[in-house]
Formats: sequence, structure tokens, C-alpha cells
Amino acid sequence: MTQSYELTHHEYDCIVVGAGGSGLRATLGMAEQGLRTACITKVFPTRSHTVAAQGGIAASLGNMGPDNWQWHMYDTVKGSDWLGDTDAMEYLAREAPKAVYELEHYGVPFSRTEEGKIYQRPFGGHTTQFGEGPPVQRTCAAADRTGHAILHTLYGQSLKQQAEFYIEYFATDLIMSEDGQCQGVLAWSLETGEMHVFNAKMTVLATGGYGRAYFSATSAHTCTGDGGGMVARQGLPLQDMEFVQFHPTGIYGAGCLITEGARGEGGYLTNSEGERFMERYAPTYKDLASRDVVSRCMTLEIREGRGVGAQKDHIHLHLNHLPPETLAERLPGISESARIFAGVDVTREPIPVLPTVHYNMGGIPTNYWGEVLNPTEDDPDRVVPGLMAVGEAGCASVHGANRLGSNSLIDLVVFGRAAAIQAGKVVDPNASNPRLNEASLDKAVARFDDVRHADGGTPTAELRLEMQKNMQADAAVFRTSETLAQGVEKMTETAGRMSDLKVTDRTMIWNSDLMESLELTNLMPNALATVVSAEARKESRGAHAHEDFPDRDDEDWRVHTLARVNGTVELDYRPVHLSPLLGHNEGGIDLAKIAPKARVY
Ligand SMILES: Cc1cc2nc3c(=O)[nH]c(=O)nc-3n(C[C@H](O)[C@H](O)[C@H](O)COP(=O)(O)OP(=O)(O)OC[C@H]3O[C@@H](n4cnc5c(N)ncnc54)[C@H](O)[C@@H]3O)c2cc1C
Repeated sequence: MTQSYELTHHEYDCIVVGAGGSGLRATLGMAEQGLRTACITKVFPTRSHTVAAQGGIAASLGNMGPDNWQWHMYDTVKGSDWLGDTDAMEYLAREAPKAVYELEHYGVPFSRTEEGKIYQRPFGGHTTQFGEGPPVQRTCAAADRTGHAILHTLYGQSLKQQAEFYIEYFATDLIMSEDGQCQGVLAWSLETGEMHVFNAKMTVLATGGYGRAYFSATSAHTCTGDGGGMVARQGLPLQDMEFVQFHPTGIYGAGCLITEGARGEGGYLTNSEGERFMERYAPTYKDLASRDVVSRCMTLEIREGRGVGAQKDHIHLHLNHLPPETLAERLPGISESARIFAGVDVTREPIPVLPTVHYNMGGIPTNYWGEVLNPTEDDPDRVVPGLMAVGEAGCASVHGANRLGSNSLIDLVVFGRAAAIQAGKVVDPNASNPRLNEASLDKAVARFDDVRHADGGTPTAELRLEMQKNMQADAAVFRTSETLAQGVEKMTETAGRMSDLKVTDRTMIWNSDLMESLELTNLMPNALATVVSAEARKESRGAHAHEDFPDRDDEDWRVHTLARVNGTVELDYRPVHLSPLLGHNEGGIDLAKIAPKARVY
């Protein structure tokens, strides 16, 4: 039964869906140029997941020793395991200092050096002299709340530029013309229950990652890949979805991050036999081996039946042997998180932990201006008119197969800014808005109504948990042909059960059951694309560690995966951009420096 809804219409030059770091930077840049801009967000802007980013934002300012953008670019290329697009990585590294100084001028309260310059700290994988020199201090920080500081500053500046905010509005679907131009979105006001149509010349998806497709994720519960879901429903592809970054120590169940510093201070992991198993896998670095290695070993222990707990599905992290003074002084935040989220007193008991999804390298394919791509065989860089994607939702692709720490926050502001610059070029504020395709709008309304009245036998929470457990087990850190094939089979079955969804609450105001169900319709295509893309990739590269194909295969697999999800998943591939924007003689990077080689640190 399709109910009719009264629709409130809005017209803007630009709409941005999402108010995290990337969405706010795009909103601000568009509003600054006098484009009529609205930002639609399902949570209050400063509660977006960006607020949780502590470490900092990478840019080669060189405030703490010699540095330059070519070195930053080299580290990013290597970090990506040679899957990133060269032009986009060059753009990121070159524009990063400018983007950070702009943040400073907007008012981000960066920590300072003695001379009053922006403070920069060291971070993994950031080096000097094309990996030949010592580590560099490149990560600009506002104490341990860099994301928090950036969000608050950008929100204030956007308001100052008269950007309009639609807060606690849930965008459900894109509206597209017959010939594939984006015309805006349909959105549901969570507070009033009213439905709104936003018609725009340019729509920007800045909806963040989809960490919540997994059982354990460090990201907020709102990170449900809504942008990817919307794009997939229009028959557009998602790119490189097999690359998912794991952090070894998220709190079991809650997923909150326990920093690597805990093991740095002497913490160690044990299995159900009380064994310090990392000594067996990594005799030298033990519990401080690199993130992906530790995560894989933990998963192996669990798979072989040596996990702890009633379901033998997690691992113990011990800090209880450390002096209580050390814990109180150096790890007070961790002690508090463990108490709140695991009910554990770290001075007496181990913390239950699990390798936890931390970041999605894949997403909606774009060029380095943020324009969404719908590649064809003849034109692998074909642009979808009227549609952009930025931030973790997008895939420009600067992180390729693996993202370096502090390279996400810089991605948000560099590409949020780039999207605004490009919108300034392609959007004519004096032109009239596109005439809405009624058929596309009707379809969006009907889908909303279908989910609202879904009356099958499976509650949303049950199906979501099944998806999360499947993904955690089979599209995990540790992948084999067998686990991946099993994952594809299980996820195909789980996704098939979406038609049996049961929504209990049919009201329109603050209906969290309906919102979570709509989110599940977005998580599911993201999850499916991830496991199917992973199953197909017969090599190991970055975060995709395939036990049966342990080596990187540049000959056959230095390509981007494209996954179109429509019930089933159709795969296709697109060449990696290998050309830089500037030639070596114009001050660009020497291509020989970034030629593929083994990724060892
Ligand atoms: C715990 C943690 C720590 C991190 N630390 C760092 C760090 O130190 N350095 C670093 O570089 N990176 C870090 N990262 C990664 C980085 O913070 C994220 O990748 C980044 O913040 C994502 O920003 P975003 O703008 O893409 O989206 P988000 O900040 O996730 O925001 C998404 C926005 O989209 C909106 N939205 C989503 N769906 C809808 C919808 N359907 N309708 C309306 N609105 C919608 C939400 O309301 C929200 O405003 C960290 C990540 C985590 C989880």
C-alpha cells in the first residue's frame, strides 16, 4: 500500500548531504562563493563521526623539520600499496598545506610550537626523502581533539556565510533525470515527520563510511553508508570496496577504540589458553607488530577455537600487570572507556577486544574535483552531471588499498574544498533549477513507504546482526578463497532476506525503527559489494590480505574494482590513474620515485 505524502519543495544551487568535516568544508566553500547552499544532516553537525578524530591532520608544513609535498605524496602512494590515483594523490599532498592554513585562518585552535607555529606530531608511515630518511612530524594537531576543533570551526564559518542547515533530516534517495543527471534528494524530517524534496543543480554526498556493516567498528552508529546505498540504487558503481582497514583493539561489543598506546605501555594479548600468542607469530615485535599483522593473528586464534568468552569470539588485552600509577597517569582515557563500555577495572581484569573496522578506503568513485564517475568501457572517467561525493563516502582515490593515519582528515578538507571550487565553475546561480523527474521522485517516495510498511517476519535488528556477524567472520582481516566464498554465499542469503523485513513502528515522528531500517537498506549493498569485490581479487594488497594469494600482483590487479549492486553484484574494473598533474620539470614529482616496489617499513 502506498500512502500519499505531502511534499515540501526547496530549491538551491547546491545541497550537501552530511555535515562531517568533508560536508562542512564543501558547504562553506560553496556558500562563500555566493551559491545558495543547504546542508542536510541526520545528526547535529558537530556530532558527526569526524568529532571523534583525535590524532590529527597531515600536511607538509615543515614546522618541525624539513618536509615537502613530494615526500608526503610518496608516503601516500606507498601507503596505498600503489592502488591510489596518482593525480588525486598529488592534488592531496600539494593542496594540503593551503587547506590547513585556511583552517587556521578560519579559527581552528591548533596546538603551537614554541615559536607559535602549528604543532605537528609523528604518525605511522610518514617519512622523509622518499622513505629513505627518518620519520617526519607532519600531523598537525589540536591537542587530542583535532576533529572536534575542525567541525566546530567549520560549522560556525558556514553559518556566517549564510549556508542553511536542515538538521535531523534523513536523506533517503537521489532524484535523477531520465538521462542520468542528479537533480537532488528526498529527505524525511525526523523531528516533524514531514517529507521534503530538495531540488539542486549540484548534490554532494558527504555521508561518511559504512563501518557499521561489521559487528565491531570504531565508527559511530550513524556510519551506515547511506550515500553508497543511494548511489547503488541508481545503478551507479561503488569502487574498491574490498579494502577495509582494521584496528586490532576495539572494545568487544562496543567497538570503541583502545589506542595502540596501551600496548606501547606494555599491554599484551592472550587467547583462551592464557597464552601470549603474539610471541608465536611475531617473535621480535610481538604485540607491537603492525596493525594488520596483529589483527590477522587475533582472528586466526579465534577461528582456530582459541577465542575467549562464552562464544569464544574475542581476545583479552591485559593491562592489569602494569602498576596502577602508570595506568592512571598514562592511560586514564582507556581506563575510563574500559570501565564504561566493558564494565572492566583495568587494574584487575583484562579488556575484551576484537579487531575492529576503522575506515573504508572504498566508496563512491570520483575524480579529484569530487565529481562522481560512472565509467564505461570507452570512458573510464565519465562524470555523472550534478553529483559529487567527498570524504569517507567518496573514493578519489587517494588511500588506494590502505590509508595512512591522519590522511583522512586532510582528505576531507582538501576534497571538500575542491568540490566547492568545481561547483563554482559548473553551477550557474542565474540559471533555473532542473525540472524534477516525477517518475524518479515517485519511486523514491514509494520506496520510503515500502520500508515504512514492511511487514515480513524478520526484525531489522536481527537481520542487521546477521549481516554484521557474517562480515566480521568472512570479509575480515584474514581472508582465504574458502572464507570469501563462504562470505559471498552467506551475505547473498542475508541480503535476500531484506524482502522479509519487519518494521514495527509505522509513525513518522522520531521513528528510530524506520530510520534504522532505512539505514539497513544502505548498509546491505555496501556489505555485499565489499565481500563480492574481495572474493574476486586474487592477490594481496594493502588491507586485502588473501592467504591463498599472498603477493601483490601489479600485472593483473593494479586496477580499481567497480561493483554495481542491484540484487546481485556485477563487477567491472577501471584503470588506476598513473599520470601526475605536473611534469617533473614543472616542479612535480619524479615518476621514478613512485614506481611500484615492495611495501616494507
Ligand atoms: C574513532 C576514530 C578516530 C579517527 N581518528 C582520525 C585521525 O586522528 N586522523 C584522521 O585523519 N582520521 C581519523 N579517523 C577517520 C576520519 O575521522 C573519518 O574518516 C572522517 O571523519 C569522516 O568524515 P566525513 O566527513 O566523511 O563523514 P562523517 O564525519 O562520518 O559525517 C557524516 C555526515 O553525514 C550525515 N549523514 C549520513 N547519512 C545521512 C543521511 N542519510 N541523511 C542525512 N545526513 C546523513 C551525518 O549526519 C554526518 O553529518 C578516525 C575515525 C574514527 C572512527
